[in-house]
Amino acid sequence: MNNHYILRHALCAALVSALACQAMVAAQDNPQPAAQLSASLRPPAAADQLAGDAPSTSVSPRANPFAAPSTLPFQMPDFSAIKDSDFAPAFDAGMAEQRREVAAIADNPAPPTFENTLVALERSGRLLDRVEKVFDNYYGTIDDPVIDKLQEEYAPKRAAHLDAIYFNQKLFARIEALYRHRSELALDAESLQLLERYHKSYVHAGAAVTGPKRRRLGELDQQIAAATTRFEETVQKAANDGAVIVDNVAELDGLSPEDISSAAAAAQARGLSGRWLITLQHATQQPALANLKNRALRERLYRASIARGNGGADDNTANVAQIVRLRAERAQLLGYPSYAAYQLVEQGAKTPAAVSNLLTQIVPPAIAAARSEAAENQSLINAQAAAAGGAAFALEPWDWSFYAEQVRAARFGFTDADVRPYFELDRVMKDGLFYAAHELYGISFTERADLPRYDPTLRIFEVTDADGSPLALFIADYFARSNKQGGAWENPYVSQSTLLGLKVVVVNCLNLSKPEPGQPMLMTFDEVTGLFHEMGHALHEMFSAVTYPTLAGTNVPTDFGEYPSQFNEMWARDPKVLAHFARHVGTGEPMPQDLMSRVLAAQTFGEGYLTTESLAASLLDQAWYQLPAAAVPPAAQVMDFEARALRENGLNYTAVPPRYHSPYFSHIFAGGDDYSASYYSYTWSNVLARDSGKWFSDHGGLTRANGDYFRSKILSRGRTQEPEVLFEGFYGKPPEIKPLLDYKGFASTVGG
Ligand SMILES: [Zn+2]
Repeated sequence: MNNHYILRHALCAALVSALACQAMVAAQDNPQPAAQLSASLRPPAAADQLAGDAPSTSVSPRANPFAAPSTLPFQMPDFSAIKDSDFAPAFDAGMAEQRREVAAIADNPAPPTFENTLVALERSGRLLDRVEKVFDNYYGTIDDPVIDKLQEEYAPKRAAHLDAIYFNQKLFARIEALYRHRSELALDAESLQLLERYHKSYVHAGAAVTGPKRRRLGELDQQIAAATTRFEETVQKAANDGAVIVDNVAELDGLSPEDISSAAAAAQARGLSGRWLITLQHATQQPALANLKNRALRERLYRASIARGNGGADDNTANVAQIVRLRAERAQLLGYPSYAAYQLVEQGAKTPAAVSNLLTQIVPPAIAAARSEAAENQSLINAQAAAAGGAAFALEPWDWSFYAEQVRAARFGFTDADVRPYFELDRVMKDGLFYAAHELYGISFTERADLPRYDPTLRIFEVTDADGSPLALFIADYFARSNKQGGAWENPYVSQSTLLGLKVVVVNCLNLSKPEPGQPMLMTFDEVTGLFHEMGHALHEMFSAVTYPTLAGTNVPTDFGEYPSQFNEMWARDPKVLAHFARHVGTGEPMPQDLMSRVLAAQTFGEGYLTTESLAASLLDQAWYQLPAAAVPPAAQVMDFEARALRENGLNYTAVPPRYHSPYFSHIFAGGDDYSASYYSYTWSNVLARDSGKWFSDHGGLTRANGDYFRSKILSRGRTQEPEVLFEGFYGKPPEIKPLLDYKGFASTVGG
């Protein structure tokens, strides 16, 4: 159930394929953010659970800070007043309140009207919304065992609460009746879209299925939940069991002293004192491969990585086959030929054919770029062998990043230490991030040191619109803390809605390492890009000018959600913006032109490999989920199927393996379904982002006129129209891949 109606997901947290986000996410790329985890705990599709079985819970405004809207500016939650003990009663009361509201709508003796059904639903659940938004943010950002415990307790309850709304037959009958008569209701465009979205998402969840099919749907959901849980447990066990044990520290030559001591500590923790343990990270390529000089150890580490879940004690192939078969059957039961067809109808892409068509167009230029990177790596191998008087060897996947890093260092000749003094956080924010937003959209940021915060490092800004009216509160939660979820993401504390009279409170979370006390926060260019990326999500939230909460802000499909954020990254690289913020922290001198050119040129280094491994994963995802149930291979043929799918998609290039092989591809086989059949989303959004970047360049770049146009066509619109309609309304034609290829530096490898 891809439900953005009440339980929305933080953007970015799961996007480990995100090329620009990669530096932000690499270390802890957790494919299951909190909200997805809760989705995996969702019980099977159940019959009505709303019938007044709820305890009559209530909370009093004096006693509980969620009971009434906050009186702080923009209804920002009063972080100073919220206690752990407030959550459970607020959840209970919030769910009970919404159950009563929904029951009143469903049981209303008056015939259904748009007002008494959909508008009433949009107004329902306010208390629950207030507590959920704070709780979900806290769960990802605050180190508090009580919150973790509450998450365990309330994730299944919240999932059951949502299911009860989706599977309320009386409610669905009202929505269905309105939908059938939609052309007679004289609705404005946004209201009509709301009705269509409700109807589609209820049908999509299975609300229209009755009788034996309903029972089968319930069984399938139960089996899928069990199989995806088994899959993820096996991935974790296989990663654990696959960690590489090293007996001799000399083999670790090339790793930093910190990495060597963490390897010693990891071994110690497993009772292997006196040895070293290299633990496995999620993706195929392991970070240590970039530095390990010992080729035999590199090979051992790489082989351990790709062996995960493929045979042996931790075999995951049976789970892969079963999950694909169950999801395909579920889709067929709902009237779709495959799970991909079922999933994509709710996305901007709409059909598997559209996804396959886009991805396969990018394959040849990506492979061509990867092959030319391979040739450079091979030249370096040959030259080093010749210099040492030894024999050269052929480049293998376990050699790739080790040699690519040396090519990178030789070509661009700068280190993080050279650039960091030019990217001081405060200046990057004010003279970069806020400056670009001001030039494009006329908005201004004023710090509000007076407002309460849940951590002393938070910075809160009031955002004022071009006409001087208040627009939003922007919270920057940029620093890593113990137990803060890894990576970077955006999430609202308050979402915009004209119907509810709400403006936006939004947070951007990153994981910058806090500097020593008294020292300035100096960043890499990747971190700067991460700041701009998350601001893109924040602007999508803040500019929302929508009536209904269901259609507001970032409540858009996955393949559209990363579009504004990836678009906003381009301003970090824009010559005018970059020159405005890249100044030395000590002297205030601008970054030397030569260094700046090398920093910019380095942005497209290695894109051939990164794009190819991501396309391989995306096409694998599609290959699995485009299968009808009857065509799913048995466990023993899972790896053969995978090899054939890659070959048939033109990805038979063994030097670049998929970012994930099927037996450890948690994004698409673990609980939650945001990325199953949707791993292509990042690439899709990136195409839209680069097309838009091209449009800006063609129209004069960083100007108010361009910014206002983009805001009016995309950033303010939420999902008031379908994503593909919004995009064409802005761009004037369907998306095209050429600007993406140019941005990645692939242009010279294709004609036109
Ligand atoms: Zn993002």
